[in-house]
Amino acid sequence: MKFSQTFIPTLREVPADAVIASHVLMLRAAMMRKLSNGLFAYLPLGLRSFRKVEQIIREEMDAIGALEIKPPVVVPGEIWKESGRWDTMGEAMLRVKNRLGADFVVSPTAEEAFTALVRDELSSYRQLPLTLYQINTKYRDEIRPRYGVMRGREFTMKDAYSFHTNEQSLDEVYQAMGRAYRRIFKRCGLTVIPVKADTGAMGGTGSEEFMVESEIGDNTLILCKGCDYAANVEKATCQRDFTLRTVDEARSRAATTPPIEKIETPSVRTIEELCSFLKTDATKFIKTLIYRALNVELDLSNAPGCAHLQPHQAAPDAPKTYPEAFFAVAIRGDLDVNETKLAAVLKASEVQLASDGDVERLTDAPVGFAGPVGLTKVPVVIDESVTDMPDAITGALAKDLHYAHVAYGRDFTAWLVADVRTVKAGDCCVQCGGTLYEKKGNELGHIFKLGYKYTVSMHVTYLDEAGKSQIPLMGCYGIGVDRTLASIIEEHHDDDGIIWPMSVAPYHVIIVPIKYDGQVQTITDELAANLEKVGIEVLVDDRDERPGVKFKDADLIGIPLRVVVGEKNLPRVEVKIRGEKENRLLAFEEAQSFLIDYVRSELARLAN
Ligand code: ATP
Ligand code: MG
Repeated sequence: MKFSQTFIPTLREVPADAVIASHVLMLRAAMMRKLSNGLFAYLPLGLRSFRKVEQIIREEMDAIGALEIKPPVVVPGEIWKESGRWDTMGEAMLRVKNRLGADFVVSPTAEEAFTALVRDELSSYRQLPLTLYQINTKYRDEIRPRYGVMRGREFTMKDAYSFHTNEQSLDEVYQAMGRAYRRIFKRCGLTVIPVKADTGAMGGTGSEEFMVESEIGDNTLILCKGCDYAANVEKATCQRDFTLRTVDEARSRAATTPPIEKIETPSVRTIEELCSFLKTDATKFIKTLIYRALNVELDLSNAPGCAHLQPHQAAPDAPKTYPEAFFAVAIRGDLDVNETKLAAVLKASEVQLASDGDVERLTDAPVGFAGPVGLTKVPVVIDESVTDMPDAITGALAKDLHYAHVAYGRDFTAWLVADVRTVKAGDCCVQCGGTLYEKKGNELGHIFKLGYKYTVSMHVTYLDEAGKSQIPLMGCYGIGVDRTLASIIEEHHDDDGIIWPMSVAPYHVIIVPIKYDGQVQTITDELAANLEKVGIEVLVDDRDERPGVKFKDADLIGIPLRVVVGEKNLPRVEVKIRGEKENRLLAFEEAQSFLIDYVRSELARLAN
């Protein structure tokens, strides 16, 4: 391909709103342009790399027997109502009405579409297991699209869905996906950290996310210095630094605790203020927070303060959910509640701190004086840590009052005891007792055992060997193509531009003739033709530009191999590997075989 005949409008300046390297370089190297917030157009150069990432993903999916299909992106709202997610997906889902007033959804993900498709075709156990996938457009109306294609509104995802007759079969495909993902990222030249992930309200049985380390990552990863423990903080657990006690054990332990006592704490609200006021430390406090939970799937019919709540059922067989419910969550004062762990425990789609008004209404006190003792208007959820606090201080549900000598089991009980703490650097590993540390990460892919979530709500059945109707199990597996591409640039660049791994480079070789005419032109064209003949992708910078400009652009767009053809060196040419300092002055034939060998060995290295 000739530079003059393609469209690579590189930029000298750093674009104003781009802050991370991949965003800057994708714009400067003319890989893409922004059309609107979160909406990007790939230009020819960017699309070549994009297609290569897609193709690597496709090959690895095909290799494990997943079958590619091409469903529509716009799907009927009906199937989202069946699964119950019409109500729970919220604002991120773009909904449209057609001319007849029927609801449609621009797919943010495709569990519903694949489940509906399989439902109509599945009759016998002989058709299972079945794994289908697409590499297709998704739309999510992200509140804050940022970092270029890392978090766009429209993006491309490879999403696969598998259907099974039993757990073992689901696990086999889940494991095969995990291995395929590791190969995909390796072939893309990426270093990924697989971590245990939240299985959320879906109540799935297994979930792994593939993260890249990143300063701008939205995820906190908890890793162990001593072993291979790696988890998203949303899922991470740690060794208990307390003894978990039953309510009876806690009550008998409280026999020696002085009686509960009200203490005046004028104008003291935060834990820090309380600590200095009472001259003690945070571990002595029971911190109580009021949460509003949405779409709660737990049965609340017997929960304190919930008798008036009406569960909602999207479809006859869909799970009953409470659109909104409030909970008090108590935890040892030095710890923090992890909202994702809490949402998973409550089987809620989302939890958020209650508004001041709701806190006042539910605790009969201003914000800052909540506590589990005497709280009747909401169910009390306590973190496990609170079961081992025989003599604690907590809010007394009245302005400027706290209780001292509070004991679980004696002065209050809980509706639910759960592990909802946020694990932090310095906590001890559940697997080996080693010290945990934190890293920031960006999620590139996610594999997930969904269980029966969609197949039950959407009535998928098949007949087993005995002719009995059964419901299949399901798994889902996603990779963001755009985010993967951007992450490759994050990992492979320098001050001058991108340094593409060979597997995803838009071209393998760039030939830069100092001046594209005469003997130089002949040599350039011959080399390009010979390389292209054996499948090597060549970009020839035939522009009438100063050599310095061409060299800068070659570095910026990051083609792995550069050949400079100049009159003064003929018949030799200069070969340089992007990212290395050294220039090799080689005879034509030598250069040609060096380039072919190098491209092939790099592709092989990344693939194995
Ligand atoms: P995140 O937490 O980053 O929003 P997610 O958990 O919502 O991601 P999934 O639903 O698991 O993402 O989607 C699978 C993959 O799709 C992600 O791992 C990511 O690579 C990609 N992805 C998700 N949202 C976006 C987006 N807004 N822009 C680009 N890629 C995205
Ligand atoms: Mg995810």
